[in-house]
Amino acid sequence: MRLALAPLATALALAAAPLAHAAPPLAKADQAYADWLDAGYAKSTIEAGTLTRIDGRGLTAWTRLKVVRGRRLKRLLGETAKMKLAGEDARALKRMQAALGAASTTPPASTEEASERLCATASDQALAETRLSDALYACFERWGNHVPFEGRSIARATALELLQQLDAPARRKALFYALAPLWSRIDAADEPTSPYRRLVRLAAADARAQGGSAIEQAARTLGETQDQVEAQLTAALEAWRTVNPGPPIEPWDYWRRYAEGLAPLDAAIPAAAIPELNRRYYEDLGLDLTRLGVISDLGVRPGKAPLAYADFVRIGRQTPQGWRPARVRVSANVERGGLFVLNEIVHENGHAAHMMAVRARPAFFDLGDDLFVEAFADVTSWSVAEPAWQRRYLNLAAPDGVGRRALLANVMLDVAWGLFELRMLKAPDSDPNQVWTEITSTYLNIVPHPEIAWWALRVQLVEQPGYMINYGLGAMVTADLRDRFRRAVGDFDAGNPRWYPYASAHLLRFGAAAPTQDLLRGFLGRPVSIEPLLAMIRSLPPER
Ligand SMILES: [Zn+2]
Repeated sequence: MRLALAPLATALALAAAPLAHAAPPLAKADQAYADWLDAGYAKSTIEAGTLTRIDGRGLTAWTRLKVVRGRRLKRLLGETAKMKLAGEDARALKRMQAALGAASTTPPASTEEASERLCATASDQALAETRLSDALYACFERWGNHVPFEGRSIARATALELLQQLDAPARRKALFYALAPLWSRIDAADEPTSPYRRLVRLAAADARAQGGSAIEQAARTLGETQDQVEAQLTAALEAWRTVNPGPPIEPWDYWRRYAEGLAPLDAAIPAAAIPELNRRYYEDLGLDLTRLGVISDLGVRPGKAPLAYADFVRIGRQTPQGWRPARVRVSANVERGGLFVLNEIVHENGHAAHMMAVRARPAFFDLGDDLFVEAFADVTSWSVAEPAWQRRYLNLAAPDGVGRRALLANVMLDVAWGLFELRMLKAPDSDPNQVWTEITSTYLNIVPHPEIAWWALRVQLVEQPGYMINYGLGAMVTADLRDRFRRAVGDFDAGNPRWYPYASAHLLRFGAAAPTQDLLRGFLGRPVSIEPLLAMIRSLPPER
């Protein structure tokens, strides 16, 4: 029984837990699959520039190995497909076949010139979806990683952090418009044939052919319809609007409007302190990132991927000598400190924690549905907004509600992006500037600027249209999971050594062996509810 949850176990006991063993013919395919995955992860880790050699091999050797192992896997899967398989084995085979057929999604490093050339191809009206998406991703590399501001070039993540921190409105406005070269690459003049509008039409058509967009997948994870999802997103936005009255805000002032009270905390979090603050928090949660060998690649360098992400260096697996743990890496562009950047790094390490906890056979060595994966990573990252976390790790705290309001201001933008993509994919001929203006002026009290494509701040919009739902709707899952954890192990905002063992045993260890919907339902004891998120919004104290 996949969902007969084990009693509370320690991480140590987990490591020794027996695995369901695959039937002999699949056991071979399972191992070949693990070998192929490991070659792929080694290759992408080196391509990303995080490491130059893994297990004594460089890029050329791993690239060759991936091809050789892929051939062997294809042959074994072909043999296995002739057998009559049922239940878990049939699902395992299907997963392995799908993975072998899919392209790698990890971004390799690229030079500025190559990104600029690739970005320029986005104007080609004949590009198919994948090529167009790759071109627009390259625009984020070229124009998002090099935002010209006050005589220097900064990364997009730094620009977003600065929009929270800069005091002078004129500087914020100048910085905001420094992102315009990026917007114009993504959406040109917002005409019906703009690159983004073509991409949305292609993505919507593809989703119809493939049996559902990322948004429909997220809805399925919750056992809901897309209409229900839309109603939940708007319910969260309406609750936010109610507790945040006041005159309309310019978009360049939106972040600062809520983050202003965090200035003393931002000053207490220099960029160099972020790895240690992150490490200490997870250690207090029962997870020693250093001992587990999680690689932290946070520096800025030319050609580095323009977004923060976590990925495997190799998967974990059972060997005759026992469990061989996974290796995991976190990649980000940290140039400046501050609470917002720290939140992002704790989020990525939440993915790392998730990856290290999986104890599934290779075919299911994955994390589950995207909605759950993103929501889980925020369970810990939301803690840094809480006074309990701030007092323990910074020895100072923002007044009650200030950190939470600033966090929710960012969460509501994610909700807005989720709703934006939902509406764009539902009606792909819509004008994105109009759709975004309508959402942000109605719910976030932001001054309309339909003349600019300022929605184009997130690389996910072009890398995987529909993906933002996993953050927007994920907020509802995060709030629910946080409540459930508190009831199970007590408060964990300032650390709690029971948290990680409990999360591992009850939520993370299954990997993709259990359907995420069943897993969440089993963990929560009911379907996911929006009430904890609404309660969190409604309980914000009035602003002083
Ligand atoms: Zn994430």
